[in-house]
Amino acid sequence: MDLGIRGKSALVCAASKGLGRACAFSLAREGANITISARGREALEATAQEIRAATGVEVKTAVGDIATEAGRAAVLALCPHPDILVNNAGGPPPGDFRDWTRDTWIAALDANMLAPIEMIRAAVDGMIERKFGRIVNITSSTVKAPIEILGLSNGARAGLTGFVAGIARKTVAHNVTINNLLPGPFDTDRLRSNFVLLAKNRGVSVDVVRQDRMRQNPSGRLGDPAEFGDACAYLCSAQAGYVTGQNFLIDGGGYPGTF
Ligand code: NAP
Repeated sequence: MDLGIRGKSALVCAASKGLGRACAFSLAREGANITISARGREALEATAQEIRAATGVEVKTAVGDIATEAGRAAVLALCPHPDILVNNAGGPPPGDFRDWTRDTWIAALDANMLAPIEMIRAAVDGMIERKFGRIVNITSSTVKAPIEILGLSNGARAGLTGFVAGIARKTVAHNVTINNLLPGPFDTDRLRSNFVLLAKNRGVSVDVVRQDRMRQNPSGRLGDPAEFGDACAYLCSAQAGYVTGQNFLIDGGGYPGTF
C-alpha cells in the first residue's frame, strides 16, 4: 500500500535511537523528507546517514534537548512547516514518589507533556491551513496500565493524553489528526539499560532478566522497533485521515483488558 506521503516533510523528535529512529526510518521509506533531533550529535548523524543511504530522502539533523525552548527552536528552524510531527523524548526515571520534589516533576512534565504540547502548538495551525497534518505522540502502555515505580511517566503522559483527547476532535475537520502510540516492551537501548539495572538489583544476569521479561508478555518476545515505526507511518498516511484522538497500544497483548 502506498501511504501517500511522498515528498511530505516529517519532523521526528528524539530520533537518533530506538522508537523515534524507527518512526523516522518508516516515514523515509514512504518517501517523506525527514528532520530528526537528539541531544547527542554522533548517533544522530549516524542515523541520518543510514536513512539517506537506505531511502534516498533528504534528512536534516538538529542537535538539542526537545524539553527546552532552544531545542524545539532548533528543530523548527530546520523544518518550520512540518506535514507530519512525531513527538518523542526520553522517559523519566523510575523511583519512589516520596523522593520526588517539585523540580523532579517539572522535569518530567517538560519532557513528556509540555514539549509535545509546545510542538503541536507550533505546527498545528500551518497543518490546518494546508489541509493536511498528521501528529503522533509516542507515549507508553503505562497510560492505560500504570506501573507504580514509573509514577513520573504515568502522570506526565496522562496529562498529554487528556490534552490531545480534546484538540484531536477539533483539528480532524481540516484533515489534521492527532493520535498517541503506546509502546509496551520494545527492544531498544532504554529497555536494555533497564535490564542492566534490574539484573544488578536482583543479582542475576542480564539475560535472565531479558528472558523473564519476554516470558511475561503474551507474545513471548519483545517488540521490534521496526514494527512500531510502521504503525507510526500508517497513522501518518493519507489513508488515516479518519483516525484521530486514539491511543494505540502496541504491546504484544500485554494489556489484559477487553477494551
Ligand atoms: P531510547 O532507545 O533510549 O532512545 C531515545 C532517543 O531519544 C535517543 O535518540 C535519545 O538521544 C533521544 N532523546 C532522549 N531524550 C531526549 C531529549 N530530551 N531531547 C532530544 N532527544 C532526546 O528510548 P526508546 O526505548 O526509543 O523510548 C522512546 C520513548 O518511548 C521514551 O519516552 C520511553 O520512555 C517510551 N517507552 C519506551 C518503551 C520501550 O520498551 N522501549 C516502553 C514504553 C515507553 P539522546 O540521548 O542523544 O538525546
